[in-house]
Amino acid sequence: MKTTLQIKLLPDGTQHSALKETMRVFNDACNAIAEVAFREQCASKFELQKLVYADVRKQFGLSAQLTIRAIAKVVEAYKRDKSKQCFFKPTGAVVYDQRILSFKGLDRASLVTMQGRVSIPIQMGQYQRVQWHRAKGQADLVLVKGAFFLLVVIDTPEAPPIDPSGFIGIDLGITKVATDSDGGSFCGSTVERVRQRYHRLRRRLQSKGTRSAKRHLKKIRRKEAQFRRSQNHIISKRLVEKAKDTGRGIALEELKHIRSRTTVRKSDRAKHSGWSFFQLQSFIEYKAKLAGVFVQYIDPWYTSRTCSACGHADKANRKTQSHFQCVSCGYTDNADINAAINIAARADVMQPMVMRATTAKDSPSTATSLPL
Ligand SMILES: [Zn+2]
Repeated sequence: MKTTLQIKLLPDGTQHSALKETMRVFNDACNAIAEVAFREQCASKFELQKLVYADVRKQFGLSAQLTIRAIAKVVEAYKRDKSKQCFFKPTGAVVYDQRILSFKGLDRASLVTMQGRVSIPIQMGQYQRVQWHRAKGQADLVLVKGAFFLLVVIDTPEAPPIDPSGFIGIDLGITKVATDSDGGSFCGSTVERVRQRYHRLRRRLQSKGTRSAKRHLKKIRRKEAQFRRSQNHIISKRLVEKAKDTGRGIALEELKHIRSRTTVRKSDRAKHSGWSFFQLQSFIEYKAKLAGVFVQYIDPWYTSRTCSACGHADKANRKTQSHFQCVSCGYTDNADINAAINIAARADVMQPMVMRATTAKDSPSTATSLPL
């Protein structure tokens, strides 16, 4: 699986201008090379190099290896669309490879610039440090809001999939973001309070409609999205850890059904759609893959109305949003937990199919690639 590490550079004033100058010259050179590539209809790195190398070095004073990288960048772009000449912004990415970029431990990067080699302190987070040894080959130097970053593509290994012994069912809910079939809840009252506060704030600003209210609203939306994102990261992480620790797979509802299925009061529905369940699922899927945890999707039809004890399905079973009581056998439970148990049970029913396919091909990796 490919992921990108983002490493922040912490250049001093002189180094910052050296990087900026290099970026500008590199992209100027790319534009000059692109003109030749288009004029000569040349999509071969080798041929293009013969045509432009000497001129580019002389005209732009670019180092030998940066010239090679500029030619490669142009060829890549030209190959994507041969119908027109490509243009590069002065702040376009500069491509570095091992000959012009090296790292001194975890603290510094040494880059070739227009001012020669410069050694610049770098800043890495915990995750980056752990993954660091996988980095190899190329890195893109990019400028984001005035700060320089190196983007390094790494290969993250996936853990070999674990044969699940049962499933944790996840109910994505209205009052709680996620409830599992063990009765665990992955969204406490704090999250719900913050969610509601944002909702009220948004409503108030929307009704105002002034320009400053609109600006404020934009800011709120961004903050809210950041909040949801970080919560989704936390929830998915806990969930995948729990599944791995207990040797189980994760059962999720097929989301395209979820809105039509839920018949709730209008105010609840607004809250419901206020959470990004798609994002949560994609985080779960990604983290599960890395951990070797199997994810099974199920059709959520009637999961909230069906009794997890006797299987009786009836609208009347769900007394309120939060309370489930079976009209046939009398079983009572929290409505979200009851639904989560049904979700886990449906995944269990589907599991033998997966297992058979796995043993037939004698390769555990086929389990994750099966069409679900
Ligand atoms: Zn029942």
